[in-house]
Amino acid sequence: PSIVYCLKLLMLLALGGVTMHVPDEDVVASLGALRLDGHFSFDDAQAAARDFGNRCSLLPAAVLHPGSVSDIAATVRRVFLLGRHSPLTIAARGHGHSLLGQSQAAGGIVVKMESLAATAVLQVHGGPSPHVDAPGGELWINVLHETLKHGLAPRSWTDYLHLTVGGTLSNAGVSGQAFRHGPQVSNVNQLEIVTGRGDVVTCSHEVNSDLFYAALGGLGQFGIITRARIALEPAPKMVRWIRVLYSDFETFTEDQEMLITAEKTFDYIEGFVIINRTGILNNWRTSFKPQDPVQASQFQSDGRVLYCLELTKNFNHDEADIMEQEVGALLSRLRYISSTLFYTDVTYLEFLDRVHTSELELRAQGLWEVPHPWLNLLIPRSTIHKFAREVFGKILKDSNNGPILLYPVNRTKWDNRTSVVIPDEEIFYLVGFLSSAPSSSGPGSVEHAMNLNNQIVDFCEKNGVGMKQYLAPYTTQQQWKAHFGARWETFERRKHTYDPLAILAPGQRIFPKVS
Ligand code: FAD
Repeated sequence: PSIVYCLKLLMLLALGGVTMHVPDEDVVASLGALRLDGHFSFDDAQAAARDFGNRCSLLPAAVLHPGSVSDIAATVRRVFLLGRHSPLTIAARGHGHSLLGQSQAAGGIVVKMESLAATAVLQVHGGPSPHVDAPGGELWINVLHETLKHGLAPRSWTDYLHLTVGGTLSNAGVSGQAFRHGPQVSNVNQLEIVTGRGDVVTCSHEVNSDLFYAALGGLGQFGIITRARIALEPAPKMVRWIRVLYSDFETFTEDQEMLITAEKTFDYIEGFVIINRTGILNNWRTSFKPQDPVQASQFQSDGRVLYCLELTKNFNHDEADIMEQEVGALLSRLRYISSTLFYTDVTYLEFLDRVHTSELELRAQGLWEVPHPWLNLLIPRSTIHKFAREVFGKILKDSNNGPILLYPVNRTKWDNRTSVVIPDEEIFYLVGFLSSAPSSSGPGSVEHAMNLNNQIVDFCEKNGVGMKQYLAPYTTQQQWKAHFGARWETFERRKHTYDPLAILAPGQRIFPKVS
């Protein structure tokens, strides 16, 4: 079987037209001899070389479909023992929703984490501290479906749920609940991890805490998360989903900041920027039906930049009156353009899975599997106005290529022992330029979007904005060192401890494989 394996491997490499270090036959035979509950496959290498960003394709030598955690541990251990002389690296692939090859491994092994999710069970535990034990490769949408059966749900989300538990926990996991509960990495009590030496380690705030904090936001550098214990709360049945518009950035952000620091407030607080919008990509974040609040055609913006505050209030059917009163009281404190209050009531599931609805619409129009040159920035409160003045309307003349998110979060809800890098200020903003590039040239092209992204980053760097990138697509260690700043030393020390040969997550381009 090792010869067949080797031939298939070489054929794949040739088909991909990729230049890479090909593992020798002994290495291949050594892996082929592993006794696994799952299996290696070679015919889906092309699929493992794709991601949501659609701008980077690195062909692996093989894909591991783990049937158990031991499969992952045995594979990592074998590659570790092959040592410096083997070029093999290993990338865990969640749902492959990275932007620039972060879950790929050129000539290495991609571990399809969703195969593990299919063989492991989601276990929901009630009681005073409800939680769910979820496989690392589980999609958040499945976690939600399962926990809802028990009347429970995780507290902190991403805007889109067709992402995996291990994938978002390796970044941070941020959405409109983060101001209150912190990002998803602040809502995990325990992890099971396969380190870069192939050891299976359980870790938490109390036990093996250094590895626990390293892995949270750790970009897959310290181990493969095979299981996560996620905190739950009682799930509401319904959500009042509200949007209001502003034409003044100061008023918009003052209201956002008031809401995220108020004791009694909404359950979800986000916002987005609307600049001269037309076209379907504008509806990416879904629209209320029948009255869409952000169709510029229905609202005379006179070419102004508009800011949309998006809010929700959770409720159960028997609490509708109280919800109405609370929402009324909160809205009365806001200074939006009074004719622009839009709302709808939807189930909690419908609200949380909202981006999937847009995904289906975009897929139907062939606009989902296109390049996504996204730029996600964390901007300190003290420089957000300077940033907005330069970017909205000056660098960016429209927001036709996709939504621009902008909302504040509280630093106190982020744990600085994790690997996540954030600005050093009490309040900072997440600003996401979520561009799609369906055309090969012109305003809908990757080139156009990248040019704008570069201008924005350039402006930040030259004007002391104090910005940090989220889901950063850096390609050199020097860039990563600058990103981590004073925290680089800890990050590097942890890498030496848990993945000394730098086998894991090569697509982040932080540490080259030790040879
Ligand atoms: P992958 O892209 O497959 O992997 C991401 C990285 O983590 C890779 O380096 C990979 O090797 C590593 N990895 C994957 N699984 C594991 C594991 N089990 N253990 C260790 N390392 C692992 N992010 C937000 O924070 N908030 C949002 O609102 C948000 N919305 C999004 C909307 C869309 C439409 C998309 C495409 C992405 C969004 N994201 C958001 C970004 C998302 O967090 C990242 O794409 C993230 O990478 C999760 O995707 P994934 O599960 O497919 O992981």
